[in-house]
Amino acid sequence: SVPRATMPEEFQPLADAVNAAGQRLSEDVAALETLGEIDRLLLGATELEPVLDAILSRVTTVPRCQPVGIALLASASPAPGRVSAAAEGSEPLPVTRVELDPELIASLLAADEGITIARCEEGRHSFLRPLRDLGSEFFWVWPVVTGQRLAAVLAVGFPEAPADDPRFARHGSEFAARLAIALSKTARDEHLYRQAHYDPLTGLPNRLLFRDRRAQEIAHSAESKTRGALLYIDLDDFKKVNDSVGHAAGDQLLVIVAQRLRACVKEGDTVARLAGDEFTVILRNVADADSVSVVAERIIESIRTPVNLAGRDHYVQASIGMALFPDNGLTIEDLMRRADGAMYRAKDLGRGRAMFFDRNLMLKRFDTTQSGLYRALRQREFSLFYQPQYSLRDGSLGGLEALLRWQTSRDGTRSPDEFIPAAEVSGLIVDIGSWVLEAACAQLSVWREQGIAPRRLSVNVSVQQLKHAEFPRLVRRALEKYGIPAATLEVEITESVLLDEASAGAVRQLAELGVRLALDDFGTGYSSLNYLRQRPISVGKIDRSFLEDVPDNSASATLAETIISMAHALGKEVVAEGVETAAQLQFLRDRKCDNAQGFYIAEPLPEAQVSELLQ
Ligand code: C2E
Ligand code: MG
Ligand code: MG
Repeated sequence: SVPRATMPEEFQPLADAVNAAGQRLSEDVAALETLGEIDRLLLGATELEPVLDAILSRVTTVPRCQPVGIALLASASPAPGRVSAAAEGSEPLPVTRVELDPELIASLLAADEGITIARCEEGRHSFLRPLRDLGSEFFWVWPVVTGQRLAAVLAVGFPEAPADDPRFARHGSEFAARLAIALSKTARDEHLYRQAHYDPLTGLPNRLLFRDRRAQEIAHSAESKTRGALLYIDLDDFKKVNDSVGHAAGDQLLVIVAQRLRACVKEGDTVARLAGDEFTVILRNVADADSVSVVAERIIESIRTPVNLAGRDHYVQASIGMALFPDNGLTIEDLMRRADGAMYRAKDLGRGRAMFFDRNLMLKRFDTTQSGLYRALRQREFSLFYQPQYSLRDGSLGGLEALLRWQTSRDGTRSPDEFIPAAEVSGLIVDIGSWVLEAACAQLSVWREQGIAPRRLSVNVSVQQLKHAEFPRLVRRALEKYGIPAATLEVEITESVLLDEASAGAVRQLAELGVRLALDDFGTGYSSLNYLRQRPISVGKIDRSFLEDVPDNSASATLAETIISMAHALGKEVVAEGVETAAQLQFLRDRKCDNAQGFYIAEPLPEAQVSELLQ
């Protein structure tokens, strides 16, 4: 800050302004850091109390936020509640019980950015008493709303009247939103989150927690310049066991496999169950590829040992794909894909073996696709299919998602999953993506002329496209050229975009244009809630992997439900993808999911058929 004493008189106002700006900035930084910490905590939390304690103690480290109190309200009315309070440097205070005035509850519910209270009145503001006892005369309070209900109040006390400050108001409401997430999660079931992160059958971390841990491992290896390995393990013929001795015995086998996997690795290594009979292991601090092979062989041997189920010995084998980091990739997605690819090669080569990811083999495959992609673009072999999305509230057609198809003369229609990765590696995705945008907008304008346009058309966009400074302008030009209102176009981005600094500007510009942003494959990454809140995303599209065994598998159901309620708590709309059964649809309807898309409702359709449907 600028020292006062050495400053000529006339510069004083300037110095004050600089100091004030510096103060605000450090407040912003501290608040953001604290929000990030709380998010990480929310991801790992199993119970409400530790989250409350942490929010209390961390918020007091944000400048001007102290003391801090949280009043939790029971659902009865008039609402009795209990207040926890904390101030930096003082012991945690005992919890006190209070009553909340219905009038105050009503005015709080209407005050998103919080309200200030100048004097603590005995009856009306009893929840502020602990803060007054800590020396506060003025208070800023924010509502914590879950569903339509005031679930808690967050309060900060001041010795003097606080200045009216919109940033401070916003920080407060952001903290209140975190509390809402913590409460809505824990209110239903304290163990919900644990269930969402651990596989109840084997007790291993599940996909979600695994992704998070793996990200930490990779970051750690990059920092400490050590090497790690990711093993993708798939049981061969597990289905046979399931079919011959039943699901209960199959489950028992999975538990045994999980125990054996744990026994094959060191303390500090991670073993997780991704789904069904797929497991994954992260080894840290590996010297070289050979030492990884040794562990893989140990795993294969140990799984080969027969398992006695229902009085009969069963033999299973494992196929393993291995990828090293940082050698074979730095991002979680890359490593996962590579280890997965290697695992399939191990299966192709006869199962019960372990294979390393082989860059040369991958490149060869990319090469052939590459030249094909150039040709496809030149010879107009691409087309768009459109998959309908329906509102679960009223059954109306909510929108269409444009999906790219490649009509090859040799192997028929190819799906984007087969060629988009190659197009991304070569950068050709930028040209292909421009074609998609143009074609989608052109089609939308035709439908508009015919008076049959859907409410919304979504287009998938790759992170490579968003890195290009041109992209937002391209979108604006396409909208202008075809006279399309920005709000009818939706751009689907993936979680990796949110983590990519270079794309942040493009995302903002798209939002400024009025284009809707949807987060595709929602839940598969580890995007912090913080990112989600900050970025102008309107819609989360739950990845179909989360619905696969819903509603039969209760852990999956809980996970899907958690994702829906987290998105709603953040004020996002939710689209469920990959709805394949009536039961899934009913489940989603019951959980108040907003929209659904999937083969059960409608497959992606060529232009002519969608036009008919729209008619
Ligand atoms: P996505 O955006 O998550 O699209 C949904 C995918 O799930 C589509 O596969 C769709 O056909 C499929 N799907 C829909 N309903 C169901 C269902 O009930 N069950 C199952 N098993 N699958 C269902 P598709 O068309 O093969 O696209 C795959 C991915 O390729 C897309 O995933 C998207 O990430 C990418 N993609 C598609 N078109 C484009 C594009 O124009 N540009 C870019 N950059 N990526 C695209
Ligand atoms: Mg999509
Ligand atoms: Mg998706």
